[in-house]
Parts: sequence; C-alpha cells; structure tokens
Amino acid sequence: MPTIQALRTQIDTLNLRLLEILSERAQLAEEIGELQTQVGTAHYDPAREAEMLDALTQANPGPFTDATVKSLFKSIFQASMQLEQESDKVKYLTSRQTRREDTVVHLGDVPIGSTHAPVLVAGPCSIESEEQMDAVARFVSERGVKLLRGGAFKPRTDPYSFQGLGVEGLRLGREVCDRYGLKFISEIMDAADLPAFVEYADMLQIGARNMQNFTLLKAVGRSNKPVLLKRGLSATIEEWVMAAEYLLYEGNPNVVLCERGIRTFEKYTRNTLDVSAVALAKLETHLPVLVDVTHSGGRQDLLIPLTKAGLAVGADGIMIEVHPNPAVALSDNKQQVDFRTFDIYLEETGYHKKLSQKRHEVYGF
Ligand code: PEP
Ligand code: MN
Repeated sequence: MPTIQALRTQIDTLNLRLLEILSERAQLAEEIGELQTQVGTAHYDPAREAEMLDALTQANPGPFTDATVKSLFKSIFQASMQLEQESDKVKYLTSRQTRREDTVVHLGDVPIGSTHAPVLVAGPCSIESEEQMDAVARFVSERGVKLLRGGAFKPRTDPYSFQGLGVEGLRLGREVCDRYGLKFISEIMDAADLPAFVEYADMLQIGARNMQNFTLLKAVGRSNKPVLLKRGLSATIEEWVMAAEYLLYEGNPNVVLCERGIRTFEKYTRNTLDVSAVALAKLETHLPVLVDVTHSGGRQDLLIPLTKAGLAVGADGIMIEVHPNPAVALSDNKQQVDFRTFDIYLEETGYHKKLSQKRHEVYGF
C-alpha cells in the first residue's frame, strides 16, 4: 500500500505537468487569437467548442463523468478566450497600465508633475489691458509664481459680455511674461487660432466648454505645445480621460489635466469640486493633474480649503484667478482675488514655501 505522502508527491508532479501542458495550450490559443484578429473573425466559435467537447467525452477513460470532463474543459476554453480577448483590448496611451511612470510636463524650465513641487498657475480671468497685465505679472512673479494665466479668447455664456482681446491679448500676455520671466497659459477655442497660440503661448488651455471639441483636440494634439485640459462641466472622468487620449493619439504627450468642478444640484457653490476625480485621474492615468479652485467653488472663502483638499488628494498644482482690481474686472469679477487677498492665500496655504520645495516635503507622504 503506497503512503498518502507518496501519492501526494505523484500528484504534485502531475500538477506541474498539467500546468506545463495548459500553458502550452494557452500559447497556441493566443496564436490562434492573433490570427483571428488579423483576418477579423470572432474568437468564440461554438461549433468548434462542441466538436472538442464531443471528442473529449468520447475519449473519456473515467473515473470523471462526461459532465465533469465537459465542465473542466469549458473552464479551460473560457480562460483561453479571455487571453484572446485581452490581446484585442486597446492600449490607451493615457493609461497607467500602458505607462507606469508619472509624466512630467515641462514648460521651459518649469516641471509639472511626479516628484516636483506643486505649481501655482495665477493670473486674471481675462487679459484686459497692458497696465492690468503688467501689474499682475510683476506681482505674482515677485512671489515666486512661474506660471501666468490669462484669457484672450473667452468662452462667455452671454454673447453680449466681454469676449476677450483676441490676438492682441495673446501678444500682451507674451510681452509681460517675457518681462518678468513667466510662462504664459491661455485658452484656445478655435483650431484656426493655433498659429497665433503657437507663437505667443507656452501652454494651450482647452476649456471646460470645449473639452469634447474633437476638431480642436485633434489640431492641438498635432501641435507640440503643452496642453492644459479642463474637465467638461458635466463630463465623466472617462470622457475627460478620453479627450486627453485624443491629444496623445495625435502625437502630443505633454498633457496636464485640470479638475475645475462639475455641475451638480448644489447651489452654494458655482460647481462641485470633485476631489475623487483628482485622485482617480492620478491613479488611472500617468498625467499631471491640477485643481482650479476659482471656477470650482466660485467663492473666495473656499479658495484656501479647496487648495488644501486638492493637494491632499495628490494634485500637482493649483490654478487661481488674481486681478489688480477684481471689482472692475471684465469677467468673473466676484471670484478673482485682489493682491492683498492673494498674499493671505499664499500665507494660509503655505504655497509661497511649497513652490520651492520637493513634492514629498510639501505633501508629507
Ligand atoms: C478659465 O479658466 O478662464 C475658464 C473659462 O475656465 P473653464 O473652462 O474651466 O470654465
Ligand atoms: Mn474665469
């Protein structure tokens, strides 16, 4: 009588042989899957499966019943099918599964993302005049801010409200950025304006209202300018990431995502800052993510807590609107902060120190 131990040793050997045979079978299934993909036929072939099960039950020597043999082999077929389907799945360029390392987007010598210090994008909602831009550029640059925002083409709900200075605004933005050593970020709304943006801006912002303007995404994707892609007003995270996919697919890898609040039933805020979207965008993609604290809350008293929240969930930077005299601003005059409030903001969030620190020193994790 053999001992249980001796029989178990034989089973261990058989397990290994089975595994070897199963793996060999899986490789063949994968090869078949690739050929099927090439000729465009379906991976699942019920007639072929029935034929294999028939052959197996006919050859069944026992002691398993035919039903058991069928069930065991069906599991094997299913596992092979999964492998074949896996190889068909699109490898999204934005996905962390395609690229594990964090992407770092460089605006000249300013890095955004990964282990770098969180950036601060500050500046007015709209570019209004040379005096306004000079004042704001000088002020923010003195505080260590490197990235200046300002809209020259404004997506306004009301067609009778200020639409922006257009190309003249872009030229003004460039001029003051060069004067104070800043990088210039501005929103592009129409692919036809691309040549002017390529000439004057360092980063092209695609606004919430244009997040799914696929013609614009394709055109900007074919340029090599870094892009700041805002999340649409009612866009799901998947739709936002797919919009980024368009940019990468067209050949532009320098994409930064920006959560700017979404529409919900809530009325106390202009939009609801979706902090889980920031964390999820960081988990699902390898792209840097910013949080726009001005357009999300739409309230000055939320700028500091939303900044802390954004950084706590891993944002790579914050966007905030600042204006020399918000009361007379031509757009978003309730939400832009004046210089005194901006200084308090820097102090309270500790951002003036963060700008020269390493990410782990800022976040503490
Ligand atoms: C802006 O940043 O000026 C702007 C219009 O933002 P959003 O597209 O997020 O509304
Ligand atoms: Mn604004």
